[in-house]
Amino acid sequence: MPADAPITQDVMTIPRKLPEGEKKNLVGLTRAQMRDVLIEAGTKEKQAKMRVGQIWQWIYQWGVRDFDSMTNLAKPYRAMLAEKFVIEIPEVVSKQVSEDGTRKYLVRIAGGHEVEVVYIPEEDRGTLCISSQVGCTLTCSFCHTGTQKLVRNLTAGEIIGQVMMARDDLGEWPVPGAPKDETRLLSNIVLMGMGEPLYNFDNVRDAMKIAMDPEGIQLSRRRITLSTSGVVPEIARTAEEIGCLLAISFHATTNETRDVLVPINKRWNIDELLEALAAYPKASNSERITFEYVMLAGVNDSDEDAHRLIDHIKRFNIPAKINLIPFNEWPGAPYKRSSNNRIRAFANIIYQAGYASPIRKTRGEDIMAACGQLKSATERARKSRKQIEAEAGLGS
Ligand code: SAH
Ligand code: SF4
Repeated sequence: MPADAPITQDVMTIPRKLPEGEKKNLVGLTRAQMRDVLIEAGTKEKQAKMRVGQIWQWIYQWGVRDFDSMTNLAKPYRAMLAEKFVIEIPEVVSKQVSEDGTRKYLVRIAGGHEVEVVYIPEEDRGTLCISSQVGCTLTCSFCHTGTQKLVRNLTAGEIIGQVMMARDDLGEWPVPGAPKDETRLLSNIVLMGMGEPLYNFDNVRDAMKIAMDPEGIQLSRRRITLSTSGVVPEIARTAEEIGCLLAISFHATTNETRDVLVPINKRWNIDELLEALAAYPKASNSERITFEYVMLAGVNDSDEDAHRLIDHIKRFNIPAKINLIPFNEWPGAPYKRSSNNRIRAFANIIYQAGYASPIRKTRGEDIMAACGQLKSATERARKSRKQIEAEAGLGS
């Protein structure tokens, strides 16, 4: 893609049309949407809210996938549900476990596309890194996903389905009657896998609402972090409509360099971005914003860069922590990782200025599960867009 190519949000529209007679998936519907489809299927309006509550709890609190297990529903009602609906999540194609315990899953979604999901166990928590798109329309020059041409938005069901899949694999659905386990294997979600979540806003929002729902997966909004490259107009919406924590892929301290590393900067520059970030904590009632900063040797890692980074954050008075990410290399990558000494010196300048500056520990590198290394096998197979449209039932 030429450097001056327009930033585009041109992604295929899904969900695909359901062929006549195909059952509808209940996973990923908002409560209001579930109510509508249940009424359409013959549920009495007066009962619909209660039925949504019951089905919702079976699906998201207990991890049940078949209607017959929903024992608080009458048998004929269960039969009706089974006739009209399914409870489906993405299918696991492969799973790799790293030496450090990180798990990388390749999951298949409708149309045969694949996305990657990474589970990172830590001492006091377990973080699931989920994807929001197949590929990415943006072309950050250091990111493997950005080289993937094929793009489609994931549905809300496919997004929350990644969380459900991981709970399946971790064996973490609660058992009725058993004492409540407060230490969760999957305690945090980060939207840092493939794709730009704010270019798939509605589906990401609906999925995260399900993750936060007190009658479902019950993760606090403070345990969900959305990472964006800087889709400025959607940042205020994220505060209002999702209210999770925010991470920003900052990566450069001058517009000249950020234009190259994170080309969306040509659309919304550093100051416009900082202004939107400054408003976020108050609007979302959350704490610090995480500035993600990938360390690229000789490109963005000088002492001057560190000082400029602090100046930017101070100028806009943003409560921040700066997460330094050692660059993860991928085949054909045009950059090299900064040396450990350089990263430490950079971190020290930031720390001296009064900001936390943790250096992100690289996890799962041996299985190409680290940040920016994700790229799906679908892309490697290089299907044409036409072929995919045809499979998704969108072709003419
Ligand atoms: N599109 C979103 C979220 C996915 S990327 C975003 O850009 O924020 C998740 C994080 O991994 C981002 O901070 C991204 O800049 C970083 N990243 C991408 N490629 C990387 C690489 N090769 N090495 C280290 N971090 C990388
Ligand atoms: Fe897309 Fe994020 Fe990668 Fe940029 S860093 S290409 S926005 S996934």
